[in-house]
Amino acid sequence: MTARPTKQTAAHSGGDAIRLRSLTRSYRSGDSTVTALDQVSLAFPRGTFTAVMGPSGSGKSTLLQCAAGLDRPTSGSVLVAGTELTGLSETGLTLLRRERIGFVFQAFNLLPALTAEQNVALPLRLAGRRVPQSRVREVLRQVGLGDRARHQPTEMSGGQQQRVALARALITRPEVLFGDEPTGALDSQTSREVLTLLRSMVDGEGQTIIMVTHDPVAASYADRVVLLVDGRVDGELTGASADDIAARTTRLEAVPC
Ligand code: ADP
Repeated sequence: MTARPTKQTAAHSGGDAIRLRSLTRSYRSGDSTVTALDQVSLAFPRGTFTAVMGPSGSGKSTLLQCAAGLDRPTSGSVLVAGTELTGLSETGLTLLRRERIGFVFQAFNLLPALTAEQNVALPLRLAGRRVPQSRVREVLRQVGLGDRARHQPTEMSGGQQQRVALARALITRPEVLFGDEPTGALDSQTSREVLTLLRSMVDGEGQTIIMVTHDPVAASYADRVVLLVDGRVDGELTGASADDIAARTTRLEAVPC
């Protein structure tokens, strides 16, 4: 495996971009209750890159959904830049997601009839905000697509499409960028290019990133790996190599349910 890129461990501007306090999410399933997240407390300092890993069913998606204001916890709290999400109305949550949170998923979810720049501008248009063309071009340049602004998704490779999705997620300068297996649909070389770009957003722009992944190589680009088992934090790895992460997660997968 290739060496990990250099990492910057100190947060850029101090403070936590997001903080989870005793976060618990239970689901009723027939007569029983499934506790997907059980008293999870985590802080995500500004300008840091965190990978969330764990076996299937360990609560990764639930953590992402609650932290991003897409789902409401059963108890506990989520603070995004000091704003308590549990106190927000549905409209307040929608605004927070639109203005302060960015998402990239495994599927690029671009609109095929729109050009790269139109896709990137979409979140601002949907929010009824002015779309400064200079900002659209700036963020496309940041992801290395300054010369592809007028191209449609079908004219682009998978890696380029994911970079358009990344530019779209960053257009609002979100407090936190969430990734749900953002490189899951890409080949390993293209994955590395996208991960290098994510890393540079953290190091160069002070972006905070939280990414769910199964891939130890992807996780090795993060400053920290949070390991979930049965809805609880089972441990953390800091500055770990892909091999170290793989060794640890293989042990977790081997734990009998
Ligand atoms: P992961 O993303 O790590 O695979 P999830 O967060 O999707 O884990 O799920 C954690 C646990 O919560 C699992 O046992 C899952 O079956 C359960 N769960 C998740 N969503 C629901 C739901 N909507 N209703 C019932 N149970 C759910």
